Amino acid sequence: MRKPLLFLFLLLPALAVFSTDINVRIYSDENVSAIILAPNEGNYLLIGDGKVIDSVTSSSVYQIKSSGNLLEVKTLDRELGKYSAIRLKECTADCNFNIKPIPDKTSRLYDDELLISNSGGYLKMVNIVEFEHYIAGVVECEAGHRRPSEYYKAQAIICRTYALSNLTRHYGEEYELCDLVHCQVYKGAANIPDILEAVETTKGLVIVDNSNHLINAGYHSNCGGYTVNSEDVWSLSLPYLRAVKDTFCLNQLHATWEKHFSTIDWQNYLSKKEATLSKRDTRGENYWDSIPEQKRVYFYDKGYLIPLKDMRLELSLHSTYFTVGQDSIGIVLKGRGNGHRVGFCQEGAIHMAELGYSYLQMLNFYYQGVQVTDFSAIPVATGTK
Ligand SMILES: [Zn+2]
Ligand SMILES: [Zn+2]
Repeated sequence: MRKPLLFLFLLLPALAVFSTDINVRIYSDENVSAIILAPNEGNYLLIGDGKVIDSVTSSSVYQIKSSGNLLEVKTLDRELGKYSAIRLKECTADCNFNIKPIPDKTSRLYDDELLISNSGGYLKMVNIVEFEHYIAGVVECEAGHRRPSEYYKAQAIICRTYALSNLTRHYGEEYELCDLVHCQVYKGAANIPDILEAVETTKGLVIVDNSNHLINAGYHSNCGGYTVNSEDVWSLSLPYLRAVKDTFCLNQLHATWEKHFSTIDWQNYLSKKEATLSKRDTRGENYWDSIPEQKRVYFYDKGYLIPLKDMRLELSLHSTYFTVGQDSIGIVLKGRGNGHRVGFCQEGAIHMAELGYSYLQMLNFYYQGVQVTDFSAIPVATGTK
């Protein structure tokens, strides 16, 4: 009998995790009031409030929509009633199904099972999915297409580590993870053969620190040539998340960027920002000049130190690593990298894989002093957050 993953995670040996499901909220940020649900492969039962309401066949198609505080279920020619909760329950292994929110969204394929309830007039959908199926789906979203297989292996181990160390993020919300960047992006079943193979090859492997704890496996698109210390972005200093010089990502797609501002907009932003700072946030220019560009965590203006992570967020910048200049129109920011620049640099790792480096070499380059081990070998399964 399947059990919620969090329950097993807390009470049983870690090995149990890999034969168990995880509950992932899907369409987390969308208001979906009706879907077309079409089982694709395998044998399912459709359960309404705990009772079988239909024997599903390969040609079954259901419309499920919000109706008051219930869910109304029908096929093309039959009304199946109204229920508080609907479950598409698998009877065989390797089942999958399609969901198409209506009226106008594209269809997505998901592995395993689906649980639907009504939350304020919208469908709250949870994919009850085998953990490794979920990891394959995440790698497909987070790692992209047509990448070297060795890179996919590194990314699979990172995504697995990240998921397992964040299982309590949605504590009390009836699911362990959402399908957004907040947890990791997940849009359903993977179908790229190299990704499925990389996940299978690395099944169960995770990254641990020298205390045998799962690491905080941060990753980003491109570091711009230098990754940064974890405390410069997240306040928390972690010994395996140290700044490294990275020449592998320099000529990759997101290595550089530019953003333009009118002079007045730029000055207005700085003035408003400086008005929120105190005299304690000021320093002399000598102090500023002594810090290498790639290590700066503040932007310097008129003696004020403005946190670069604030600027990245407020001005929608690709990274905190940039210089400011002028052109004929106004202010131009010339930047390097894309993302928070902590930990694993994806585009650097892709190039490492192209040059023949192994997934272990990639992981040991971006995370210092770590080990890759089977999750079942960790005596007490605890995250680092
Ligand atoms: Zn989340
Ligand atoms: Zn890099």
